[in-house]
Amino acid sequence: MFKQADYLNSPLYKIRHSAAHVMAQAVLEMFPTGKIAIGPPIEDGFYYDFDLPRALTPEDLKAIENRMRNIIKKRHTFARRELSAAEAKALFADQPYKIELIEGLEAGGLDDNGNPLPAGEHPVISTFKHDTFEDLCKGPHVENLGKINPRALKLLSIAGAYWRGDEHRQQLQRIYGTAWEKPEELKIYLRRLEEAKKRDHRKLGKELGLFSTDADNLGGGLVLWHPKGGLIRHLTEEFCKNEHLANGYDMVYSPHIGKSTLWETSGHLGFYKENMYSPIDIDGQEYYLKPMNCPFHILMYKSERRSYRDFPFRFAEWGTVYRYERSGVLHGLLRVRGFTQDDAHHFCRQDQMPEEIDFVLNFCLHILRSFGFETFKAYLSTQPPEKSVGDEQQWRAAEAALEAALQRADIPYEIDEGGGAFYGPKIDLKINDAIGREWQLSTIQFDFNLPERFDLNYIGQDGREHRPYMVHRALLGSMERFFGVLVEHFAGAFPVWLSPVQAIFIPIADRHIAYAEKMAAQLRAAGLRVEVDAGSDRMGNKIRKAQKQKIPYMLIVGDKEVEDGAVSVRLRNGQDLGPQPVAELQALILDTVAKKGTV
Ligand SMILES: [Zn+2]
Ligand SMILES: [Zn+2]
Repeated sequence: MFKQADYLNSPLYKIRHSAAHVMAQAVLEMFPTGKIAIGPPIEDGFYYDFDLPRALTPEDLKAIENRMRNIIKKRHTFARRELSAAEAKALFADQPYKIELIEGLEAGGLDDNGNPLPAGEHPVISTFKHDTFEDLCKGPHVENLGKINPRALKLLSIAGAYWRGDEHRQQLQRIYGTAWEKPEELKIYLRRLEEAKKRDHRKLGKELGLFSTDADNLGGGLVLWHPKGGLIRHLTEEFCKNEHLANGYDMVYSPHIGKSTLWETSGHLGFYKENMYSPIDIDGQEYYLKPMNCPFHILMYKSERRSYRDFPFRFAEWGTVYRYERSGVLHGLLRVRGFTQDDAHHFCRQDQMPEEIDFVLNFCLHILRSFGFETFKAYLSTQPPEKSVGDEQQWRAAEAALEAALQRADIPYEIDEGGGAFYGPKIDLKINDAIGREWQLSTIQFDFNLPERFDLNYIGQDGREHRPYMVHRALLGSMERFFGVLVEHFAGAFPVWLSPVQAIFIPIADRHIAYAEKMAAQLRAAGLRVEVDAGSDRMGNKIRKAQKQKIPYMLIVGDKEVEDGAVSVRLRNGQDLGPQPVAELQALILDTVAKKGTV
């Protein structure tokens, strides 16, 4: 996984960071009046944002890359110096973006990339210079540019990016690049990138008619689920809700808005306000769109007097929440502003807590396995060193329960020491997709804060009031994000139970259509989703079209098949099953659906 601390100290980070400097130098050599913004290393490479007199072309990228190779060849070293804010501003007098960054450093609270630091922190202002290029930077870099392998370096793309990610500010040109230690690593990465491009859920979403977004007419970060995507979501929810009901969850519903007083009590208006939208006035009272479902479930808990005999409670809701995200970070289904969480809140007694954690972890794994995910990794985040709520004993008991559950579930895990939220430890459960990428899906999060703030209690066996344990749980995470991950994992070739169209009849000539329609009706009556391609395309085209739509079964019908009451079966993976009696084929598909299998 992308572990910030490990990465910061790795050779790759230094290589990429240094390559970003070299790229900025190369670009300024080509565009002497260009303005430079920021250029950090990122997970698999680096970028730099530029304000240039004209739009960059793919040919420019080649030229910049060649210049970079020439600069690297000279094996320059990096010289660091510290400056006062005034000196730095004089040095970058013709670089307005750098001036703004220097002002951020001067005022404190922001680092040299304009990212927030703990309030009041004033980093020193430093620059690094190699060759003719000096940049505002805190390092680290390679010892000399010879450490950047010119054959393991590549510029990848040009994208628009707003200064500070703010759509009201200057639009800049961002150049993405990647750098590795060895050329073979670059090759593997480029292959993975190619594969990821083919699986991009935004591209497949359009090709397969699954969903759309429309920043202009609908608004950024909002998703329209089209019939085929909507069907997959329905099937997903139907399966999950039934599993919840069979496993002791109660399904609940709550509204989209709540009074400001509710969000004050929950603390969201205190520590989460920047993620919430402006209030709505109703009869002189402010209401907020919900960014989370928790306070509503807590009110349900509080609506009755609770006894120790009643536990555990498992309130589950497909709750649609709205959170502010900057427009620059919105991305297909993966980063959105409105989404539906498969949310749940568990309330239990202290003595039930370890068992409840065991249950919830295994329930998450069971559901995720049902969708075909097999490789998991968990991250256990423990008590942060700074201020946190809840007493020591609670934290230790909760952390121990989380770790014990992970050990019993026998999945690999890492401990993120001190990485927990101030209100409780958690487990993040990640899956590996078909091309080895890691995706965060489930979260199991203790909360010692909300039960205090809402004064949650129950009457114990001793007749006195006690606080329950509270655990937040999102399993798939959000329906939007999970669907995006599913699309990319399966490259749109969903398992048969989720395929919007499970089988398509392909009549060879018009005289075979009636038979195809009759057989299709038979399969539909058995509960399968079946179409007939009665169009005028030739058979080869019909097959290609069905393959492109990733329809699992293509059923070809000609004279011979009509005569035998059969169909010739081709699978979307290219396999040819030959002629099959329709009744047998029906049983085969139904069996694959029941097993949540694929072809
Ligand atoms: Zn640097
Ligand atoms: Zn919650």
